[in-house]
Amino acid sequence: MSEIKDYDVVIVGGGPGGLCAGLYAARAERNVVCLEKYLPGGQIAVTGEVEDYIGFESIQGSELGMKFAEHAKKFGLKIEMEEVEEVYCEGDYRLAKCASGNIYRAKALILSTGGTPVKLGVEGEQKYSGKGVSYCAICDGAFFRNQVIAVVGGGDAAVEEGAFLTKFASKVYIIHRRDELRAQKIIQQRAFDNDKVEFIWDTVVESINGDGTKVSDLTLKNVKTGESSKLEVGAIFVYIGFYPNTSMVKEKLNTDEGGYIVTDFKMETSVPGIFACGDVRSQLVRQVTNAVGDGTTAAVAAEKRLEALEDKEASRVG
Ligand code: NAP
Repeated sequence: MSEIKDYDVVIVGGGPGGLCAGLYAARAERNVVCLEKYLPGGQIAVTGEVEDYIGFESIQGSELGMKFAEHAKKFGLKIEMEEVEEVYCEGDYRLAKCASGNIYRAKALILSTGGTPVKLGVEGEQKYSGKGVSYCAICDGAFFRNQVIAVVGGGDAAVEEGAFLTKFASKVYIIHRRDELRAQKIIQQRAFDNDKVEFIWDTVVESINGDGTKVSDLTLKNVKTGESSKLEVGAIFVYIGFYPNTSMVKEKLNTDEGGYIVTDFKMETSVPGIFACGDVRSQLVRQVTNAVGDGTTAAVAAEKRLEALEDKEASRVG
């Protein structure tokens, strides 16, 4: 049966930003819950190796995510498996209504909802999703052992996950629409040095083809020459960016042109009492390090709001 559950702080999304916010709110001795529809960890839980989180030269993303969750839980963060469908306001309260029917209510709410992979939007993508089309190398890479794999994109994710996929694949083609990568130089260099990685430049995927049960090849087009070609592959991994998960926010929040939530320096959105942190927030870089920094700020700012509301209430009663 559904019910209203009262907390001091409600966090929507259990990625690094949300979990770090939870740690800080719990350490401020607030009653705080983090609502996550899958496993805690967010995007890093489905990332292979993480090498750029300071203090950890190399750690599996899933392990880092579990460490974040365990650490925050140790200080009192509650993590509930809930899918939040709607975030809205009632007076000073900020509420999260879940698919289960449960409503979580607090006077401060932190959105840490991250992003969803962008789809290519080409013929065959949906048909072969889960049958050779994937958005998660760590989840699906091992299914394509000793096969030729294509990766689409030129950012950190495509190049890093492309190199990761060489653990399984006989060969990895990274298909990029330009002749220059967006990925960090160190990530690029590692891929250039990997004998199993080959780049296909200035090229887009026009269709993903197969026999109805699995992917067999791609139709490619060179954007400079207009030439079409076929590439035989067992799988294609798409890493062409993310779009922010904001559909549950029914209040009108200011966003940038990409739909990312705009906050002030306190991580507060255009609606007081709703904070945002991590990948869902409008910012220059999307890294675990940013997300935890955002989460820290959001939790401290949430605490200040709670204290101000409590002072106001005390002076009204007094
Ligand atoms: P991204 O940095 O936005 O890169 C997306 C890539 O996909 C770009 O190269 C883009 O091409 C290409 N692209 C976009 N739309 C396309 C389309 N329709 N068809 C073909 N190609 C398309 O996205 P990301 O790599 O997923 O990374 C997202 C964020 O997470 C970034 O801030 C990134 O730094 C961060 N991240 C960091 C790490 C790390 O530090 N280890 C790992 C993963 C992700 P153009 O270059 O031509 O625009």
